[in-house]
Amino acid sequence: MSFADLPALLAEALAARGYATPTAVQAAVIEPDAAGRDLIVSAQTGSGKTVAFGLAMHGELLGEDGRIAPTREPHALIIAPTRELALQVSRELIWLYGPTGARIATCVGGMDASKERRQLNFGAHIVVGTPGRLRDHLERGALDLSALRAVVLDEADEMLDMGFRDDLEAILDGAPETRRTLLFSATMPKPIVQLAKRYQKDALRIST
Ligand code: AMP
Repeated sequence: MSFADLPALLAEALAARGYATPTAVQAAVIEPDAAGRDLIVSAQTGSGKTVAFGLAMHGELLGEDGRIAPTREPHALIIAPTRELALQVSRELIWLYGPTGARIATCVGGMDASKERRQLNFGAHIVVGTPGRLRDHLERGALDLSALRAVVLDEADEMLDMGFRDDLEAILDGAPETRRTLLFSATMPKPIVQLAKRYQKDALRIST
């Protein structure tokens, strides 16, 4: 698979950014046999993992016309360990999905929660955030996961090391059974394997 096989607006966004060839992890997740499946991916920072999970979700996010599928409740949720990483993920998804018409909300600790609630209430196709803040929005009823089609755990090992297991479980337990779960982690210690067992179905293992 090459970027040219992707929906046109994504291929154009990648070209405009100057990215001509997929990195190894990107090539693996856009293969047709990975489409629609749960994925457990070993990926280091710098491997192009953010664009990889962005591209992996296009089937859940875009309609037949290649534009963002209309929804008031988010179709995709990305959970990242730190505010800095969540903001970086949002920035990448904005250039990648902006041309499709996607609205992206970012929910991170230490930022104005009422502003985030207004964004969520207005309607976001993709939500990116840190575990504690996302759980808080979920429990206050500001974050509606009923339409979720894909959830990404970015740097899952870091999130468990930082003590976010309870928050992650609360969020994953609140998401529909039918969603895809994409787990990205630099390392695969036992707690990650256990988390994958509990929350993924027939996951495709990718290590590049
Ligand atoms: P990440 O592993 O997501 O932290 O990405 C590392 C850096 O590589 C980021 O600045 C990306 O924007 C960049 N990048 C991602 N995909 C590609 C690609 N296919 N070609 C060149 N650079 C890329």
